[in-house]
Amino acid sequence: AKELGKNNYQFFSPDMNARAFEHLVLENSLRYALERRELILHFQPQIDIVSGELEGVEALIRWEHPELGLIPPSSFIPLAEENGLIVPIGDWVLQEACRMLKLWQVAGYAIPRLAINLSARQFLREQLPQQVAATLASYDIPPQRLELEITESMIMQNPQRAVSVLGELRAMGVKLAIDDFGTGYSSLSNLKHFPLDTLKIDRSFIVGVPEDEDSAAIAEAIVAMAKKLRLKVVAEGVETIQQMLFMRRSGCHAVQGYLYAMPLDADALLRYLAREGYA
Ligand code: C2E
Ligand code: CA
Ligand code: CA
Ligand code: CA
Repeated sequence: AKELGKNNYQFFSPDMNARAFEHLVLENSLRYALERRELILHFQPQIDIVSGELEGVEALIRWEHPELGLIPPSSFIPLAEENGLIVPIGDWVLQEACRMLKLWQVAGYAIPRLAINLSARQFLREQLPQQVAATLASYDIPPQRLELEITESMIMQNPQRAVSVLGELRAMGVKLAIDDFGTGYSSLSNLKHFPLDTLKIDRSFIVGVPEDEDSAAIAEAIVAMAKKLRLKVVAEGVETIQQMLFMRRSGCHAVQGYLYAMPLDADALLRYLAREGYA
């Protein structure tokens, strides 16, 4: 490397690229994002594949950065998981989700269920069940109206603990979903030991359906096995009518994807509900 200039400001080595710099900038401003109310939830509808009824919505976080614009979760959730900010962020998501559920209920919108994504750190926290119970109680929301999405790897990281946490949540009446199913290392037979309600088939299996025979076979097999375990099956990332028809024929219960709606901000969600006759 060349010698540093006399101003000595070159803190970064030359190979520390723009990405790393951006990372640092994001990390610093993420700390303030919560207090500055820059985080928002978007909501993506889940539709019953047979009746066409609205099953619920999944809350997906975004960061409305004052200079950088709308930042997707893939650009800051991993960072927040590294530095621990995911804990206060996750607390906010739970709080905000319940606040929205209450708001919709008071305004007369029939949104049966709201799902939120949990991170591993949140899931492993001692106080999670009490925290969920207290938040639901403070907004007077029936527990069945909240669904928590976790991944296989979060369960398999500490299966004993997962059984007890999931058991506590289940006893409260909260719905429990396995997210991104098929991308982890566990098998469905492992999952039968855990109290779960819903299995979401990862989008990577839906993409190739129905043309790609392997994807189609895997998707069908997952649906069949999940139904034996009496899980409700949701297909993620359904973009085409062909994919929807294939999943319906396979016996899948619900779909979520651009074919129906992208994740929508709260106002756009209410317009969508009105337009589609759900409101
Ligand atoms: P996920 O939970 O698997 O969420 C589904 C992702 O697929 C969302 O991306 C959604 O916008 C996208 N998607 C939905 N339908 C389609 C489709 O038809 N086609 C395509 N190409 N994509 C579709 P998003 O919103 O960028 O979220 C990415 C991930 O970030 C989520 O994946 C989830 O793992 C994580 N995430 C989002 N919100 C939260 C949160 O509040 N807390 C935590 N811990 N993680 C979150
Ligand atoms: Ca999810
Ligand atoms: Ca998913
Ligand atoms: Ca995913």
